[in-house]
Amino acid sequence: MAVTMGTPLTRVLGPKTAASMADQLGLHTVGDLLRHYPRRYARRGEQADLADVQVGDRVTVLAQVRSVTTRPMRNRRGSLTEVVVGDGSGRMKLVFFNHRHAQLKPNAWGMFAGTVGEWRGEKQFAHPDMHLLEGVDDEDDWARALVPIYPASKDVSSWVIQKSVKLLLGASGGLEELVEDPLPEEIRARHGLLPLAGALLDIHRPTTLEDVERAESRLKWDEALVLQLTLAARRRAAALEPGIARPRRSGGLLDAVDAALPFALTEGQREVGEELAAELDRDQPMHRLLQGEVGSGKTVVALRAMAQVVDAGGQAALLAPTEVLAAQHARGIRQLLGPLGRAGELDGDPAGTRVTLLTGSLKAAVKRQALAEVADGSAGIVIGTHALLQQGVDFADLGLVVVDEQHRFGVEQRDALRAKGNRPPHVLVMTATPIPRTVAMTVYGDLETSTLRQLPSGRGGVSSSVVPAVEKPGWVDRAWARLREEVAAGRQAYVVCPRIGDVPGDEPEDADGSPPEDDGPRSDRRPPLAVLDVAELLRDGPLAGLRLDVLHGRMTPDEKDATMRAFAAGETQVLVATTVVEVGVDVPNATVMVVMDADRFGVSQLHQLRGRVARGKHAGLCLLVTDAPTSSPTGQRLAAVAATSDGFELARLDLETRREGDVLGAAQSGRRSGIRLLSLLEDEELIATARTEATALLATDRGLADHPGLAAEVAALATDERADYLEKA
Ligand code: ADP
Ligand code: MG
Repeated sequence: MAVTMGTPLTRVLGPKTAASMADQLGLHTVGDLLRHYPRRYARRGEQADLADVQVGDRVTVLAQVRSVTTRPMRNRRGSLTEVVVGDGSGRMKLVFFNHRHAQLKPNAWGMFAGTVGEWRGEKQFAHPDMHLLEGVDDEDDWARALVPIYPASKDVSSWVIQKSVKLLLGASGGLEELVEDPLPEEIRARHGLLPLAGALLDIHRPTTLEDVERAESRLKWDEALVLQLTLAARRRAAALEPGIARPRRSGGLLDAVDAALPFALTEGQREVGEELAAELDRDQPMHRLLQGEVGSGKTVVALRAMAQVVDAGGQAALLAPTEVLAAQHARGIRQLLGPLGRAGELDGDPAGTRVTLLTGSLKAAVKRQALAEVADGSAGIVIGTHALLQQGVDFADLGLVVVDEQHRFGVEQRDALRAKGNRPPHVLVMTATPIPRTVAMTVYGDLETSTLRQLPSGRGGVSSSVVPAVEKPGWVDRAWARLREEVAAGRQAYVVCPRIGDVPGDEPEDADGSPPEDDGPRSDRRPPLAVLDVAELLRDGPLAGLRLDVLHGRMTPDEKDATMRAFAAGETQVLVATTVVEVGVDVPNATVMVVMDADRFGVSQLHQLRGRVARGKHAGLCLLVTDAPTSSPTGQRLAAVAATSDGFELARLDLETRREGDVLGAAQSGRRSGIRLLSLLEDEELIATARTEATALLATDRGLADHPGLAAEVAALATDERADYLEKA
């Protein structure tokens, strides 16, 4: 029987290989494998890879074995094998403990993959993954100028993938027969794109880099078009369902909120407020993204929109990513509303409403009460976490959904909440991570965007510095001294660590377990610092005498809440915490943040964290402590974070670093990777063009009946994690 894109790999490859590909890389069919593209291409002979690699990089290099030596270890049992490999431009050492690979002989060529470590000033790989040329059946593959390097996994090496793909490419009948091109011929012609078969051939077995480029632009086109078709279809469906207008009414909750605010709204807050007020007044559901730097005052904008909806007789829900944040919102809003937020209670104002908190950890009786208030409509403002999405949470009349710090939520979750309205509610999504235009356009389709550009005046701003703990140990002491000075001046501080500590299974994902003895490499990093350990060290050392407490995700919600209250009240001076303080926590008197092992955090995460100390009138200080050398890519990434407070710039940097990680992460965990080639950052133009084509296609062929190939791809995307990836991009 003829092989097609849908043929299971079990029919064309060996059973073990097929099973590993399915389990570890999520490749099940011939099509999956053909769409598993090389990550990059190694050039034999002329490459300069080894000279360029940096400690901490995860790389694959193509190199030749120069020497092999084995000796017993000095202070422990067992042997150490050192293999020197070179590629013409540089050399590097591979080390193996108690393991000697028989095929590793001088002059053998191979690919070596791993994280670059350092031992006594020399770069090295400890226990690299490797794929040797020797004994390989077709040497001509290695003679080619460009050797494809694939995202690989534990049991499926780049080399195995290369051989399997080659098998398919050479299958009887050839690629043209195997591959049906879903792209309409006229689109292909208009944009000068290769046929699919040619593009696939070139991406897997290119002769020149130009081949790769042309192949990629064709394959990206498929991705962009299918994506835009999906989004366009979603938009159409949404437009067919009207919502309910929630007009502004004077003399109600909104006016009371405005009267109670202890500050004047910034111009931006007023403008965005007007936009929202007008949109809520339409029966076409609002669908708006509110971007604003950390501390720009998004919450009050949301609260005013919620008040308008309550005044119009509806309910508003605020979805927060953590319990700490939900509780903080509830506390803040209740405080602001005073008696107007306690309708139905003894001291409440009957003209007001109820502010109800609904989280997973409520005690049964409290929860029952909360659910009843939500269901009978007496709770005008409902604040909660994921618990709001669950079955059994029924709103009397949900008019507005506000999603705070959107990047923590996926589409399904947002849709689940939206489905709780009798008619589609208005939706306001708030984020502090600025989203590049293409990403917004791609992910949200027609979502309108509002931006708060200015911070409320009188803010001190944050200055950030990197503290290279290994290069300048003295700076670490200085950091603690600065923290003490601030506390002495009446301010408060956060110390953030990547890990909680003190439990098995709390180990970092990237420890690879090679022995840390003196014969051992330093390639495996020490475990990340933990809240519990650091708190103890600080208490007994540099911060002795200060009132210090810890906050982390393993505490019960009540404990967390009590800890946050004590900190907000100034009773605690220093809070040692995990990233639970990352999102939205608001204590204006806190002015210092020391981030330990800052290199373990993402760029956007650091920016978020730092936002916690820019919230009052005092100037904030953020110190990023790291072992990473200043000159390493990691050190430079941290320097970039310290150098700019432009969230937009940082979001870009974050996307760039994450994209690489995504490929690796997907390969390692065995998940199918997301959009494969399309880059939301670099392919702006292509995405915009694809959007135009998609709209035109659907205008004449709404159900894609004339384009079965495209229809199938769209259907596949709908069930794939790819859409999910975009949500999180
Ligand atoms: P974010 O946009 O990061 O969610 P918040 O809404 O938490 O920011 O606001 C940060 C702080 O600024 C809060 O303490 C809030 O009360 C305060 N704030 C908001 N708007 C103003 C304003 N116009 N003037 C002064 N302070 C404000
Ligand atoms: Mg916020």
